[in-house]
Amino acid sequence: MPVAGIGSASPTQEPPMAALDVPQEADLRKCVHCGLCLNACPTYRELGVEMDSPRGRIYQMVEVSEGRSPVSDHYVEHIGLCLACRACETACPSGVQYGRLIEGALAQIENSVRRSWPERLVRWLAYDKLLRSPLLLKAAGYGLLFYQRSGLARMLSESGVLAELGRLGDLAQLAPEAQSPFFFSNIGRVYSAEGDTRHRVALLAGCMQNVFFSRLNEATVRVLRKNGCEVTVPAGQVCCGALQVHAGLRSIGREQAQQNITALEGGEFDAYITNTAGCGSVLKEYPDLFEHDPEWHGRASAFAAKMRDVSEFLASIDLNTDLAPIHARITYQDSCHLLHGQKIAEAPRKLFRAIPGLELHELPMSDICCGSAGVYNIEHTDVSMALLEDKMHMVASTKANMIVTANPGCMLQLQAGASRFGPDIPVLHVVELLDRAYAGLLPSLR
Ligand code: SF4
Ligand code: SF4
Repeated sequence: MPVAGIGSASPTQEPPMAALDVPQEADLRKCVHCGLCLNACPTYRELGVEMDSPRGRIYQMVEVSEGRSPVSDHYVEHIGLCLACRACETACPSGVQYGRLIEGALAQIENSVRRSWPERLVRWLAYDKLLRSPLLLKAAGYGLLFYQRSGLARMLSESGVLAELGRLGDLAQLAPEAQSPFFFSNIGRVYSAEGDTRHRVALLAGCMQNVFFSRLNEATVRVLRKNGCEVTVPAGQVCCGALQVHAGLRSIGREQAQQNITALEGGEFDAYITNTAGCGSVLKEYPDLFEHDPEWHGRASAFAAKMRDVSEFLASIDLNTDLAPIHARITYQDSCHLLHGQKIAEAPRKLFRAIPGLELHELPMSDICCGSAGVYNIEHTDVSMALLEDKMHMVASTKANMIVTANPGCMLQLQAGASRFGPDIPVLHVVELLDRAYAGLLPSLR
C-alpha cells in the first residue's frame, strides 16, 4: 500500500543517497589487511583464493573506490561470490563492518553494470514486483500450490521436461512446499495473550514466509501468546527489503523500510518480533539506509531499537517454563545473520536448556555458513553445495537426531542437505521446538 511521502524525495536529495550506495571510505580505511579473518571465511576456505577472502574483497573495493580499477567482470565475480555471511566481521579485531561494505559494493555494482534484458526483467519481476506485493505473492503461492499438489510437478520431473529447462527446471525442483492456508489471512489480526498480558508485541510476518513458512509463523504466535504476549500482526507491513538490499537494490529497500516503519511506529508495542534472522539483521540496520536523511534516520533508529529476533526476545523475558520434556539429541546451526549480523549466540541455547530432556550437542564450526545465504544457493549452486556437504559431515559427527536453526532459509538448505548428503534427520526452527514442548508433542524423528 503506498504511504504518503514515500518515494517523494526531491531531486536535491538524490546525490547524497547515491553517495551512500558505495563502500564508504571510512569503513574501508579500518581494514589493516592483517588477514585474521581469512580462516573464518567460507569462500576462502572453499576456494583458497585471496580475491575470494574478506581481505581480498576489501582490497578490490579500495581499488575501485580510489579509481584505480573499474567495476569489471572480475570485480563483479569476486564480490558476487561473497555469501555476505559476515563471519569476517566477527573475526576482525579492527572492527571492520564488513556487512556495510559488501552492501555498498553490491549497490555500486547494481548502479554500474548494464545487465542483459532477461536478467533485468527477472530482477524487476522478483525484487520490484513479486516480493513487494502481498497480492502477487498470494497469487504465485496458489499457482505453486496447484503445481505441487495436482501431480504436475511429479509428471514434469519424471518425464524429464524439467531437466531440459535448465535453470528454470532447477528452480522448479528446488521450490519449497507451499503451505496452505497461507499466513496472509492473519495480517491485520490481534491475538490475545494466554493468561495475563505482560507484553504487547508486533509480528513481522515476512514475505515468502506467508507462503512457505505459514506453520512457522503460526507456531511463533502460539509461543508468544504462551508467554503473556498480545500479538498483533500489523496491517500495512511489507517484505523487510533484505533480499533487495542484499541484491544491491537499496532504493527499493528504503521504500520497504519506510512502509514498515510507518505501519508499526504508531502501535505502542513493546517489541517488534521476527523469526527470520536474515530479515532481523536488515530490520535492525534500517538506520544505515537513511544516513543522508535525519528525519527518516531518527524514525528508523526508533524502529530498530524495538526490533528483536524471537529467540532474543523469549530469552530476555520471564519464560513460561511449562514445557513438556523432549527426549531428543539436537545440534544447532547458528544462522549467520543471527550470530554474525545480530551477535546473538546465547539466546537460542538458553531456550534449549529450558526444555526438559533435550540434549544439545554442539555442532563443530556451527559459525560457518551452510551455503544458503538468501538466493546464493540458486546463483552459486556449486559453492553452496560444497559448503552444505561439509556442514552435513559435521552434523553426522554429532550423532544428533534433529537439527535446529533460526532462519527459514537455513532450514531449507539444511533440509536439502539432510536428504542429499544425510544424515536424513528433521530440521526445525528454535520456535517450532518450543511450540512442540508447550503442546507436549514429541517432534517426529525419522
Ligand atoms: S577485515 Fe579485519 S581481520 Fe580482515 S584483514 Fe581487514 S582488518 Fe584484518
Ligand atoms: S561475508 Fe562471509 S563469505 Fe563474504 S568475505 Fe566475509 S566471511 Fe567471506
